Amino acid sequence: MNSSIAFDNSYSRLPERFYSRVRPKPVKAPQLIALNDDLAKSLGLDADDLRSTEGISALAGNGQFEGSDPIAMAYAGQQFGNWVPQLGDGRAVLLGEVVNPSGERFDIQLKGSGPTPYSRMGDGRAWLGPVLREYIVSEAMACLGVPTTRALAAVSTGDPVIREEILPGAILTRVARSHLRVGTFQYFAARRDDEGLERLADYAIDRLYPQHKDEALPYIGLLNSVIEAQARLVARWMNMGFIHGVMNTDNVSIAGETIDYGPCAFMDDFHPDRVFSSIDQTGRYAYSNQPRVAHWNLVQFAQSLLPLLSERIGDEKEAVEQAQLAINAYPLHYEKAYQTGFNAKLGLGEPQEGDAELGNALLSLMAVNKADFTLTFRCLADGDLSALANSLSGNGSGDDQGSIETWLGNWRDRSDRQGDTKEARQRRMTASNPAFIPRNHRVEQAIRAALEDDFAPFQRLVEVLRTPFDNQPDHEELMQPPQPQEVVAQTFCGT
Ligand code: AMP
Ligand code: MG
Repeated sequence: MNSSIAFDNSYSRLPERFYSRVRPKPVKAPQLIALNDDLAKSLGLDADDLRSTEGISALAGNGQFEGSDPIAMAYAGQQFGNWVPQLGDGRAVLLGEVVNPSGERFDIQLKGSGPTPYSRMGDGRAWLGPVLREYIVSEAMACLGVPTTRALAAVSTGDPVIREEILPGAILTRVARSHLRVGTFQYFAARRDDEGLERLADYAIDRLYPQHKDEALPYIGLLNSVIEAQARLVARWMNMGFIHGVMNTDNVSIAGETIDYGPCAFMDDFHPDRVFSSIDQTGRYAYSNQPRVAHWNLVQFAQSLLPLLSERIGDEKEAVEQAQLAINAYPLHYEKAYQTGFNAKLGLGEPQEGDAELGNALLSLMAVNKADFTLTFRCLADGDLSALANSLSGNGSGDDQGSIETWLGNWRDRSDRQGDTKEARQRRMTASNPAFIPRNHRVEQAIRAALEDDFAPFQRLVEVLRTPFDNQPDHEELMQPPQPQEVVAQTFCGT
């Protein structure tokens, strides 16, 4: 008997050149590692059905969900700035789309499900480590209020995966508002396939930004919306100390969700130049470069829409100007989102003159003192100012202007001008400054334990990170930064 999901597959109704029909390749001995009951419920899926033998078999690509029409999507992209005309789902298949009880549409994709026509030299597989990392981090992001793809399930395959060593294989079931990427648009633009590009853009508007459908220039509307969504997203990353690690254009979702968790990590001690990815030799995707890189990626998106804009506007020069105008708004959207988020971290409301300097002064103190990003803000939220002063003094510049006492004085003055109650400010801070993040050394510990068949640390992390803003005294140690010997300074690409 097959497990069944009420799929409705709009992408596979697009022309054949948008994807390849492909079946997941069966695996030896599927076992369920984790199933996200809450997410299943919100999608209108039956968690018990997914947990059944048939369900697990389908989540591993052995059986097939009734109604699914598996495809691998075609896309292209710039990887570390280098143009690659043909990428695509090389180790993933889109099983289909579901419409949840609120009428929202989501993709359900298996990642690590075997080779596809886009696999190039790869084996189409994933090993346990990146699957657990993506499960933990993407779910934590969702609970931290950062737009993201989600993890519905993880299964182990029983098959070995060959990397530098032999590792156990696994498959993640990923849920996304869509898997359209900047690189999907680039794929058609680079082939001068204007008809395909138009079909894609219309599809994206219908599915993600229907408000632009009846506008005079819907593609400008699409561009504006994608720019705003990306600006808001990267601002959230920056507010949380998150480093994506591989901001290639094929890893940029048009829906404005964090996608393709590879060597990503949250920072412990703050430094603007922090990089985790082992392959990011030049720091292209370092923490403080992320807003600029997003801007560059959006320029590539605008570029790919130009043929459509020219056609609609009837004049190439005018089309370029309109696209440029849209792109020029990015820094403003970003700054506004970033500062609004940062102000909330400081308990403040709408940004005012001087707030950026106040925020940057704190970040400078944190950088010179190697202060923990998450705990610094949490101390502020908890009103634990002596702990804060302790971690931020000592390595300062020595002059009074640069001291934490001066900063706290400026912050109090600004807070007093805020005009609301101390309690309201405190509430704002507690809701904006998590106690728990998926600390890199804890993620690595969970993966190491799982390799020894102990999934308890993984399960504990996932559970604690469901309510990251709550104090959870029983899990105090998961709040703490790594001891020097526990620091995990490098993460490896998801393959
Ligand atoms: P990523 O860096 O994970 O975003 O992947 C970049 C490209 O490489 C995408 O086209 C992936 O589908 C492809 N890819 C990554 N890992 C594998 C793999 N193990 N087998 C086949 N293709 C892969
Ligand atoms: Mg990718």
